[in-house]
Amino acid sequence: MDRRNLLKTSFAGLVGLSAGGGQSAAAQTVRVPLIERLPALAPIRAHVDRIYDIKSCIRPFRTKGPNLNVEQIGDATVLHNYGHAGDGWTLSWGSADMQVQKAMSFSPKKVAVIGCGIIGLTTALTAQRAGAEVTIYTREMLWRTRSMRANGVWGPSIGALASEAPANLADICEQMCRTSLKTYRFYTGLAGNPIAWCDHYDLSDTPFDAPPPPPARLPSGEPVPPTFRMPEGRLADLSPKSEMLASNVNPWPVKYASRSSKMYFNFSEYGHLLVSQFFAAGGKVVMRDFHAPGELAHLPEKLIINCPGYAASDWWKDKAMIPVRGQTEWLIPQPEVNYSVTYRNVQARSKSDGIMVIAVGDAQRAKSWNNSNERPDRAEAEAAVRVMEELFSRFTGVPA
Ligand SMILES: Cc1cc2nc3c(=O)[nH]c(=O)nc-3n(C[C@H](O)[C@H](O)[C@H](O)COP(=O)(O)OP(=O)(O)OC[C@H]3O[C@@H](n4cnc5c(N)ncnc54)[C@H](O)[C@@H]3O)c2cc1C
Repeated sequence: MDRRNLLKTSFAGLVGLSAGGGQSAAAQTVRVPLIERLPALAPIRAHVDRIYDIKSCIRPFRTKGPNLNVEQIGDATVLHNYGHAGDGWTLSWGSADMQVQKAMSFSPKKVAVIGCGIIGLTTALTAQRAGAEVTIYTREMLWRTRSMRANGVWGPSIGALASEAPANLADICEQMCRTSLKTYRFYTGLAGNPIAWCDHYDLSDTPFDAPPPPPARLPSGEPVPPTFRMPEGRLADLSPKSEMLASNVNPWPVKYASRSSKMYFNFSEYGHLLVSQFFAAGGKVVMRDFHAPGELAHLPEKLIINCPGYAASDWWKDKAMIPVRGQTEWLIPQPEVNYSVTYRNVQARSKSDGIMVIAVGDAQRAKSWNNSNERPDRAEAEAAVRVMEELFSRFTGVPA
């Protein structure tokens, strides 16, 4: 097919269309026709006997959005940095930057960071880069934290209940996302791919603009409470747009398919790199389990940044924390697969340490809401993998 016909049939022809008809021709970008760029897609070997790990964990959802408050405990100043819900990997550097700027206004020589999940670790590194000597006090090192049981994809948003979100939450989210994205640049393109980009395919048997099904309900019959949404378009420039695959270029065995690009985190390489950077800059780690806020007053550091994630519900008795369960199942790595895909509310993403599979969508959210069960559920894992197995049993890799 020639280029002109493709441009006619492919929604991807003019990206300027999405920005409205008022644009000048010079401002419009003509995309390369998809058929010239769609790489051959290696199939995912999605079979339940290839599941080699199942990880279950809780998202640290806080009804009022992340806690960024400052408190005094004895003669110690405590800045909080927790409650990033399902967006902690995305928001980490921006949130760290915000809290470290506040911390450095006290001109501390030494800073203590509580917690070594992705929030604690990025906070510790940011404080070091601002000139502080940093000690992390933690119950677990990164490998054992809840952070390592996430999906781990860039998704600019922030969690809170719509009814309790502070008035400036959109500003906070925007600032955190923009700072994080800038910082991720330094970790992209490195050996081992700590942070990488890949094509993502959204697949559907029905048109994407079909009316959505009725919202899923909690086991109690109640609807899931509405959560905060960023104002439309506010972060639109932070993620590439998706483009529909016309039927003549669609290699998937479903009628509706779109492609976008996603940034994601390879936990092993990225985590390793961050921990190495922390130690290389003279950072210290003390393994310690705190049980009551008063214990912080006895630390030698008088400036403390508290990053305990969901554990703030126990150890800080923060009643605004709500557990939102999540589970990922891991298939044996397939380095030849270089994309991610979502179909029938299951997402599969090829990472360096495995093909990660996760159930997503409204019904899953209803099951997860206020659910603190962190036991891996084998039946849930197999059900998710079987959705992918069925998809790939029909996959030929060429348009039908
Ligand atoms: C299934 C799932 C998928 C997700 N997907 C994404 C995604 O795609 N993108 C994204 O951006 N985010 C995602 N998230 C969210 C993200 O993983 C979290 O927001 C983030 O991991 C929270 O990090 P944290 O450092 O605050 O908490 P944690 O990882 O829980 O770390 C807390 C640290 O504090 C320490 N600690 C706690 N209490 C104490 C105490 N009393 N004494 C001493 N130490 C203590 C712990 O040992 C640990 O080191 C997902 C989460 C889940 C569950």
